[in-house]
Parts: sequence; structure tokens; C-alpha cells
Amino acid sequence: MIRITCPHCGPRDHDEFSYAGDAGKLRPADPEAASAEDWHRYVYLRDNPRGPHLEFWHHVQGCRAYVKVLRDTATHEVLATGLPQDDLEAAR
Ligand SMILES: [Zn+2]
Repeated sequence: MIRITCPHCGPRDHDEFSYAGDAGKLRPADPEAASAEDWHRYVYLRDNPRGPHLEFWHHVQGCRAYVKVLRDTATHEVLATGLPQDDLEAAR
């Protein structure tokens, strides 16, 4: 069972959340200057790491906020959680 600590609601079962994507992807800083290849990489290409991975989860059955989660994909251990703007890299 995966337990995710929502910054607003506290520890909750992951069944209350929906996976909302890779939190490691950054939108091109200057959208007008970005090439089609830049957009292709941002929209479609994803890594598939074994180990710590930054993810967004949507607390659908709770406060409906987006939560940033650092989760180990091999063990499903949640290493850190925070608000979407929080830097969780120190927990790696
Ligand atoms: Zn919540």
C-alpha cells in the first residue's frame, strides 16, 4: 500500500489520488522560441527510471490539490511530498 502525505490533508491511501504525470518535465521557458522538437520532448518523451522519480498526484477524493511526490519506482516508497512548487530533490 502506498501512503501519500498530502500537504493539506495529511497521510492518505494512494487510492484517494490519481497519477497526474511526470513532475520532472519543465515547459519550455520561451514558448514562442521553442522548436517543434522541444515541444515534442516536453509533451511526449518520458524517462522510465528505476528508483526515485518526481511525480504529480491529484488528490481527487480529498482536497483536489496537486501534490508533488518523490517516489521510488522499484519499492513504491514515498520519499517526500510537497506542494507543486516545492523542491524535493534534497530527499533523493
Ligand atoms: Zn489533500
